[in-house]
Amino acid sequence: MGSMNMMKKPHAVCVPFPAQGHINPMLKLAKILHSKGFHITFVNTEFNHQRLLKSQGSDTLNRYTSFQFETIPDGLQPPENQDATQDIPSLCKSTSETCLEPFKTLLLKLNGATTTPPVSCIVSDGVMSFTLEAADELGIPDVLFWTTSACGFLAYAHYNTLRENGFIPLKDSADLTNGYLDTIVDCIPSMKGMRLKDMPTFLRSTNPDELMVKFCIRETARAKKASAIILNTFDELEHEVLTELSSIYPSVFSIGPLHTIANSMVENDLELLGSSLWKEDKDCLKWLNSKQANSVVYVNFGSITVMTAQQLVEFSWGLANSNQTFLWVIRPDLVSGDSRMLPPEFLEATRERGLLTSWCPQQKVLNHPSVGGFLTHSGWNSTIESISSGVPMICWPFFAEQQTNCWYSCNQWGIGMEIDSDVQRKQVEKLVRTLMVEEKGKEMRKMAMVWKKKAESSSSLLNIENLSNRVLRS
Ligand code: UDP
Repeated sequence: MGSMNMMKKPHAVCVPFPAQGHINPMLKLAKILHSKGFHITFVNTEFNHQRLLKSQGSDTLNRYTSFQFETIPDGLQPPENQDATQDIPSLCKSTSETCLEPFKTLLLKLNGATTTPPVSCIVSDGVMSFTLEAADELGIPDVLFWTTSACGFLAYAHYNTLRENGFIPLKDSADLTNGYLDTIVDCIPSMKGMRLKDMPTFLRSTNPDELMVKFCIRETARAKKASAIILNTFDELEHEVLTELSSIYPSVFSIGPLHTIANSMVENDLELLGSSLWKEDKDCLKWLNSKQANSVVYVNFGSITVMTAQQLVEFSWGLANSNQTFLWVIRPDLVSGDSRMLPPEFLEATRERGLLTSWCPQQKVLNHPSVGGFLTHSGWNSTIESISSGVPMICWPFFAEQQTNCWYSCNQWGIGMEIDSDVQRKQVEKLVRTLMVEEKGKEMRKMAMVWKKKAESSSSLLNIENLSNRVLRS
């Protein structure tokens, strides 16, 4: 394309929240927009960009002319250990308080450049809503991408409903353990049957002024000012919730599963561009090649979950005693403290049928025919990636809206079984067997395949088309 034409391209600035589960879906969306003719500037925090340069290589990140990376500081002191678990509340606080000014400076720089077209729209994470102010100054659209499920987003948006109906704030921290969280929440019509414990953990606080409570209230309220809200889900999966969200927010688009859509339309060349902050172990795919169809349980708790050494031990013996083949991804920082200890007897007992690694190409793993079940923390990306691969789940939600995703997986979509937060090896063993060898597991796998097919024929492609033509190019 000649440089004159290049300067006429629409230019989308994509701003993910600086955590793995936010960067991944934003990169997929950015690639899709790129394939629709947008020039892309992808804005990382300086800290994450350093990590990406290490895991992906600078040649890969810098090889494209119309897909460029820029950075802004996240406002935090870099941790001594690059792989330390990210502190999400601190990041929420610092990005919302400090990122606007450097972001505005970056926009000025981009608009002053002679080699890139002027910035014409912003696509920013739902919890990076400071970008709205910058978009407003430039008079350009700003679309907020909530990388949660629609049900998770709706639960956050109902903070006030829960408060007005007396469910929260908790009276006492004892309410976290005395059975109070089992109370059925009956005041949100589209979430009938949910218990308080299935609501996002950030809402269960005794203190209405607590950082994350205030942050969630503020970000869900500001979302009303966005040009549109987009969600990595599809209409059939969350129809009722999406309908309710559309009655609260002006313009809601379901555009997922982005993984499936990106695979179907992004040019091969861009496929090389990855967003894993850790280096991926690709050898586990070879190991999977040697296994039978649907025979492997894939175990992974995402990028932020932390567990105690005892919980790790319970999971190990549950897996060992289930007698099933498994691929277990254990991040270097998965266990709190530095007492990461897998019992040597466990390693001995599972040598023939277990593979351990520290980070994997998850979407490829979930799409591998040998994988028959997923033991997950129910992060939204993991959940929607599992759905779009037709893989049923065992859910052990950790925090945020993972509890809500777990409830929907188990109670609405028929593709999940929950493990108690106080994990015991007997339950892990039983559920893994149920998932992998019993009739119930087969039924769940069939159901997951039904959702996979529905995902493939969803209205999301059309919604992306409308988002691109009617909002981002307006
Ligand atoms: N992921 C990956 N390899 C791993 C673990 C995770 O590629 O070994 C990816 C996964 O595919 C997903 C993201 O990291 O896209 C995790 O996001 P999720 O919302 O599931 O959980 P979070 O990490 O935010 O808790």
